[in-house]
Amino acid sequence: MYVRKNGISCPWSLKQALSYFGFLVYGLSYNMVIVTKTQTDYQTMRIIIFNFLYFMSISSHIVTSVIDPGDPLLYRGKDLSQDESIYLRCTICNSTINLFSRHCVTCNKCIYKYDHHCQWVNNCIGSKNYKSFFVLIISCTLMSALITSSSVTATFITFSDEQNSNAVDEQGFASFIIFLGMFSLFGVIYFGYITTFHSVMLLKGVTTYEYACRKRALKNHKIVPRITVDKESFSMHTDMAGISFGN
Ligand SMILES: [Zn+2]
Ligand SMILES: [Zn+2]
Repeated sequence: MYVRKNGISCPWSLKQALSYFGFLVYGLSYNMVIVTKTQTDYQTMRIIIFNFLYFMSISSHIVTSVIDPGDPLLYRGKDLSQDESIYLRCTICNSTINLFSRHCVTCNKCIYKYDHHCQWVNNCIGSKNYKSFFVLIISCTLMSALITSSSVTATFITFSDEQNSNAVDEQGFASFIIFLGMFSLFGVIYFGYITTFHSVMLLKGVTTYEYACRKRALKNHKIVPRITVDKESFSMHTDMAGISFGN
């Protein structure tokens, strides 16, 4: 049975490829196009801030993707017979796992303190890579906001320059900048929403998985144990399969 190690493992996802393409578009657009039109007093500072956020986004994307979020018990031959901690048995991969681990069908293994499976990094998000994931979404939000504001400034400068506003090159430039501004504005809304959501989850001490479980349980008017509430484990338990207690 094929078990994925991390986000670099096959199969790759379409969203993962799109995220690399998005980074390429952002980097080239800002450093080779926008800077030529936004010669303001704060130009140097803007370039430094953008490239810092750019570096943080790409590096945190790679780290989140490369880290193996699997349950540590999958790799350690730990003797659990004398241990009084509570472990679970995953009946999908037949592994002994920690209490808050959960099996991901995409990665085909149990993830330590599972949060969700992210297709943008093509990897599961668990406690091992949650910090880098959080840095990623904050960096992408701020980077998108900076590009949006710079695109607005560049558009304003282009249209206020009467001498060049009718030139074909300038019109093409303006069209590109407006498109980039709208694209990055979508990024601000999208990443801003995700960052806000995860900030609230962090403050409440709840994972995305637990949140989804509780939401589903409330919708179905069911009171279920915290560990077992989720749409997949619901079906697993009714089928007498899936996660069960004990070593
Ligand atoms: Zn498993
Ligand atoms: Zn996964």
